[in-house]
Amino acid sequence: MTVRIDGTVCDGCPHAKEAPCMRVCPGDLLTKDSSGKAAIAMPEDCWDCAACVKECPRDAISLFLPTEAGGRGSTLVARKKTDGVQWTLTDRKGKTTRIFTAGKKVI
Ligand code: SF4
Ligand code: SF4
Repeated sequence: MTVRIDGTVCDGCPHAKEAPCMRVCPGDLLTKDSSGKAAIAMPEDCWDCAACVKECPRDAISLFLPTEAGGRGSTLVARKKTDGVQWTLTDRKGKTTRIFTAGKKVI
């Protein structure tokens, strides 16, 4: 698995001192490409922690799921909420399933 960054949605977070996805990646794997949008420098080193997926304010990042987990071509997007995380699973036919996982207050 690795992350996919939708370049049509990512705006590069021009007003942030450091883009949220880049700030939270524990492997320092995210960078900006020549157009100022987020890109993953070494996808083979991504361990799918989903930190960047949860942090992106524009839902521009998704995780590709392996065939065993969601079917070929399925993706998982997470949106951080104040009281947990909203996960959206989209299968290869475009059907979406939403799951909310409650957690401690997220700031
Ligand atoms: S946080 Fe999202 S919108 Fe901002 S640079 Fe990263 S991928 Fe792009
Ligand atoms: S999923 Fe985790 S390791 Fe992979 S790019 Fe995002 S923050 Fe970094």
